[in-house]
Amino acid sequence: MKRYPCLTLNVGKIKENAQKIADFCGEAGVKVCGVTKGFLADPFIASAMLDGGCRSFADSRIENLARLRKDFPGVPLVLLRIPMRSELEHVVCLTDRSLVSMPECITELERICTKLNKTYEAVLAFDLGDRREGILEKEMDTFAALLRQSPHVKLAGVAANFGCFAGVLPSAFALKRLVAFKDYMEKALDYAVPICSGGSTSSLSLIERGELPAGINELRIGEAILLGQDVTGQRIIPWLNQDTMFVEGQVVEVRRKPSAPEGQRGADAFGGLKDIPDRGERLRAIVALGRQDLPIENLEPLDKGIEILGGSSDHTLLDVEEAGSPLQWGDPVRFNLGYGALLGLMTSPYVRKEYKK
Ligand SMILES: *Cc1c(COP(=O)(O)O)cnc(C)c1O
Repeated sequence: MKRYPCLTLNVGKIKENAQKIADFCGEAGVKVCGVTKGFLADPFIASAMLDGGCRSFADSRIENLARLRKDFPGVPLVLLRIPMRSELEHVVCLTDRSLVSMPECITELERICTKLNKTYEAVLAFDLGDRREGILEKEMDTFAALLRQSPHVKLAGVAANFGCFAGVLPSAFALKRLVAFKDYMEKALDYAVPICSGGSTSSLSLIERGELPAGINELRIGEAILLGQDVTGQRIIPWLNQDTMFVEGQVVEVRRKPSAPEGQRGADAFGGLKDIPDRGERLRAIVALGRQDLPIENLEPLDKGIEILGGSSDHTLLDVEEAGSPLQWGDPVRFNLGYGALLGLMTSPYVRKEYKK
């Protein structure tokens, strides 16, 4: 008997997305770095990215990068999250380059590289408005001076990030600034800085509108390849596949119940206090899938007649009164998922993964 919960990944459709994106970006002079953090650097999906035309892999976790290094020895690896001090030596030994934003980190990189007698490539992260990681324009001279004193640390590029903390959208204006910063650093350092990395999935819309500034030559793409969507831009990307994956949970209870709670109410299992409208008696189902596995708000039932009411660590509660086909105990229920749900499912030891060609 099939075991649940089960995440089914359509590797062929993911590869097709990678291919379309790599071709589309290629025409604009942009290389695609495949971002693997959403799926624990799973080798089947990573292969699909590579076969589709991604030139390098980027991940936020050193463990995932170690996995990629084993599975794909020749492919350049980038650490996306600015490194922790505690992992830095491992980062130098394992990866080809890393995003960096702290002067202390460059000093420490120089110390480690001197000790190991090797050089390492740093990509300077610029904050262009989203206010997560990155240096500010006024700090450029400080970093140029520091890099000039750090012969083992080579500036390989500059990178911008959008849409992560504040939801700031990429713009031609911001990316022109990034290109100008790269030019400035090249002059200050007196060597070529090859990479100008203009963001992630959300930057694709700039290419679509013909607004990507000349000089941007890399994007780091995860979400668009995996799900064919752009959450920051709040859109489905119409030229990509969205039906790349689904998750199934199994029904463990189906019962007609009053929808209104009974008794004095406190907070729910996660401290939440929500309004529960009285809709009379409704047919409800419980699926054995919960917040231990994924953020349930990030699920969407494939059957449009099913509504998610809420859930706890191990249960998701559904209103199935208007379900297209009647549900029974033991039935699987299918859901589409977003990036957050994918992250949760891939990192949950409780979830089985199935691959479709
Ligand atoms: C996650 C991440 C990306 C990829 O973002 P997607 O929206 O999945 O394309 C790119 N750059 C950085 C720094 C990230 O953390």
